[in-house]
Amino acid sequence: MKIGILCFQGDVAEHAEVVKTLGAQPIKVKYPYELEVLNGLIIPGGESTTVGALLEESGMSKAIQKRAQEGMPVWGTCMGAILMAKQFIENSIHQPVLGIMNIKVKRNAYGRQKESFEEEISIPALKCDSFPSVFIRAPWFEPNGSKVEILAQYQGKPVLVKEEHLLASAFHPEIAGEPLLHKYFLEMVKTSKYSSSRGLSN
Ligand code: GLN
Repeated sequence: MKIGILCFQGDVAEHAEVVKTLGAQPIKVKYPYELEVLNGLIIPGGESTTVGALLEESGMSKAIQKRAQEGMPVWGTCMGAILMAKQFIENSIHQPVLGIMNIKVKRNAYGRQKESFEEEISIPALKCDSFPSVFIRAPWFEPNGSKVEILAQYQGKPVLVKEEHLLASAFHPEIAGEPLLHKYFLEMVKTSKYSSSRGLSN
């Protein structure tokens, strides 16, 4: 199973390491043609204004939007999740995004870099009530539509949401040493019809 990791910014090596440990093949991607062979895609953290602009310039934005529409599983962590959201909670924010998921997002919802923190949260879908979650200038989400499932909340706000083949987490599981959420995403990829519909082996 080939899992792309968008490599403009962020914890690319850390995501790749977990994916590899779980028996899948991580592939660092930057250009549209590299999406061809992928079974799924992870978009790491970073700075959404910068990466949003790079995605647009490189043609990656359109290419990812097309794949996501065709059903390719995509998981965004923190910045990745911000870019996946179709709307910002604050109307005043205008920046290029992928806009592939029916969620609203509040950027930097917990404050600045120095207000970053680690908390254990309960994620029933993983049968885990103490998932180590690192929040770094993290967002929170609001579902927008009935297909969005809230998989975890922190202080009453959704921080892990899923809409069919799309997954968004406000926190960074790649640096917490707990592979359960990566495992969950790989399972989403394995059970998705996307790969077989494109003739890709899993
Ligand atoms: N606050 C950043 C942004 O809005 C995201 C931070 C992160 O990915 N850890 O782009």
